[in-house]
Amino acid sequence: MPIAIRKVDDDTVSNESISRAASPILHKASDGTPVHQVNTQTMKPSTSSFDYHDEKSFIDENFKKQILNSDLLGSINVNDHETEEGSQSESFKTALFSVEEEIAEEINSNFLSSADNRRLSSNAKMSIPDTIMVTSLHPGNVSTHVDQKTPSNEDVATKKSRAGSYKMGYESSSLSEFNDVTHFQLVDIFSKIKKCQDLRKNYQFQSVQINSQNPKNRDDWEIYPEPPKPSYDATTKSEIKVDSRPDWEIFNKDDITIPEYKDEDNEFDYTLNADGTFVVFSKSDEKLINDNIPTLREYYIDLEYIANLSSDGPMKSFAFKRLQFLEARWAMYSLLNEFNEIQQSKTNPHRDFYNCRKVDTHVHHTACMNQKHLLRFIKHKLRHHGDEDVIFRDEKVLSLKEVFQSLKLTSYDLSIDTLDMHAHKDTFHRFDKFNLKYNPVGESRLREIFLKTDNFINGRYLAELTKEVMHDLQISKYQNMEYRVSIYGRNLQEWEKLASWIINNKLFSNNIRWLVQVPRLYDVYKKSGLVNSFQDILNNIFIPLFEVTKNPKISPNLHIFLQRVIGFDSVDDESKIDRRLMKKFPPPSNWSFSYNPPYSYYLYYLYSNMSFLNHWRLKKNLNTFNLRPHCGEAGDPEHLISAYLLSHSISHGILLRKIPFVQYLFYLDQIGIAMSPLSNNALFLTYDKNPFQSFFKKGLNVSLSTDDPLQFSYTKEPLIEEYSVAAQIYKLSNVDMCELAKNSVLQSGFEDKIKKHWIGKNFLKPGVEGNDVEKCNVPDIRVNYRYDTLKTELELVNYFANK
Ligand SMILES: [Zn+2]
Repeated sequence: MPIAIRKVDDDTVSNESISRAASPILHKASDGTPVHQVNTQTMKPSTSSFDYHDEKSFIDENFKKQILNSDLLGSINVNDHETEEGSQSESFKTALFSVEEEIAEEINSNFLSSADNRRLSSNAKMSIPDTIMVTSLHPGNVSTHVDQKTPSNEDVATKKSRAGSYKMGYESSSLSEFNDVTHFQLVDIFSKIKKCQDLRKNYQFQSVQINSQNPKNRDDWEIYPEPPKPSYDATTKSEIKVDSRPDWEIFNKDDITIPEYKDEDNEFDYTLNADGTFVVFSKSDEKLINDNIPTLREYYIDLEYIANLSSDGPMKSFAFKRLQFLEARWAMYSLLNEFNEIQQSKTNPHRDFYNCRKVDTHVHHTACMNQKHLLRFIKHKLRHHGDEDVIFRDEKVLSLKEVFQSLKLTSYDLSIDTLDMHAHKDTFHRFDKFNLKYNPVGESRLREIFLKTDNFINGRYLAELTKEVMHDLQISKYQNMEYRVSIYGRNLQEWEKLASWIINNKLFSNNIRWLVQVPRLYDVYKKSGLVNSFQDILNNIFIPLFEVTKNPKISPNLHIFLQRVIGFDSVDDESKIDRRLMKKFPPPSNWSFSYNPPYSYYLYYLYSNMSFLNHWRLKKNLNTFNLRPHCGEAGDPEHLISAYLLSHSISHGILLRKIPFVQYLFYLDQIGIAMSPLSNNALFLTYDKNPFQSFFKKGLNVSLSTDDPLQFSYTKEPLIEEYSVAAQIYKLSNVDMCELAKNSVLQSGFEDKIKKHWIGKNFLKPGVEGNDVEKCNVPDIRVNYRYDTLKTELELVNYFANK
């Protein structure tokens, strides 16, 4: 696989190439104090675009003169302009220090004066000894620091105006000409970033994926069976006795009223448009329910726009530097506030990492138990229920005993080693081999018996296993799961079968929500003659959903199941090659080639159909869905740009390390990334190279998830295993772990009502206001740091984009 080899780990290579491409302007822009840079010996620009022979002219002569003439130098004894070259450069140096010093002093005064109304400032102040001023950290300022005149009002005013723009460290009112040069580029860069953000905002809004749009996040949304009541009263500090019957015992299908359907109730109907998307229109005037949902053509234009930006040299290096800055800022913060954080979480009673709510934001249902659990289950069935008929093979029905006889295995022979489902050594860059790991003892018939929902025993064994896992979750109480279940799109009955399996087996638990994963397997079905065109797959996936939205009575099971479905996922081996053979892609009904549509095309059709479905469901007060695909695990980094536009959040995202521009966008929009370093370690990227830690430091919205406990985990609590390995390798503190747990709740698709109970009733409010340290155990100082950092970054974007 040439692609895989080329892309394994060229981190260092890409960083190098980025710094090689950096332009001199950008060096100034993001490096804090350019004036200081000019003076140092290390000013050798590391850029290829900069001509070394021009080194002297790097500082513009006019600019120098302007500095020398400026009022700022009034207090310093400037020599006559006609003096010789040497002394002129000497005074130039002094002038620069003076400018720098003023700025630095201003940070101090700002920092201290605003300390009262900003929590970080007051806390941070405590951690920096008062006697140390930022100015005194610089060796060059000693002489000028002594006799300061008291600042006049005018001085204060200019300082204030400068303060607002200090954040990037280069703008000040006295250096206007210098600024004009940088502004021009920055305005351009930030305007483009802003445009990308606006695009995403529009895609999200038009598809009803913004949290507040979803009816299930309203306060009056009823969850059935009801979530467990709090078992602890914080005001009286006492236990409350609660009924702890599991949901599967409470659930009774007859308790649910299915909305009545009358033809005249339905204002809307659906049909297929020329793009191959199911659209919903008003029956009276034939207008679309929403005509702002981007078309395939618009989508590819937007995609290309961002793709071009992400490979543009100056853009890349700019984003790269901003990300470096974010990481450096984190280092500073954590050095200054580590003890403060520990102190704050120690004074928080009752709560610790273990009893903070956490959600496994990415886990596949058929791999939700660990291997030991599956082994115990198989042995038990073989010993006590060996005579049950379990499979139809070669024209006859076989009992479990007969199946094992044909495999020449007894229950005594079975061990983790014979089961051989762990993926640690032989699956690296072999997704095909990894898929085979789903077969116990390498036998697909055992997978069919134990791990399928649609089989001879109607998925009874898998349902029993699931219930055992649910029971464990209920006992552990603080761990919650978002299980992926498959809809393949091979026929129209899949939805009904899946929903009936869930409802009939009463697979309900308040620790669990479902996501539907659609494998990208068009080429396989096409080969076997199951489908003619890509449209057939879309029909099989979406027609049942539009039908049941139109009339829930048509399939009460599906209606009930969908209330617990959060959204859609797109899965398969991303490292397969995306063929870009045509300039313009045909509609799905004309996609009857033997090869698979590209990732971006798959994702668009999940998005567009889901968008219309969501609008219709919104009108009917039914819960809406989000797109949360696997993305950026391997293959073309461009997948991440598709996801940036279309999806609510993603799983994996490790390839963001290769495209700094898109990574920066993911930061600015705080797009959720469910990362699974243990899974990556077995499949695509060794643990030490995983970008998780760097993402976390920068402040990207990351959570930890298990992906496939059956293949990767050794313990009974896979999610805790994931956290604990990360904590050991990356040296995460308790506060870090609690922050990750809080992130996972925020990213998850659990109803707002439940999230309020888990992480605090104001969790939707920004910054410290929304933080409830008693519930999530994340100190205010950390929350404020994250909030403040993000706010500064967004302010910059808006400031320059509106210039
Ligand atoms: Zn996965």
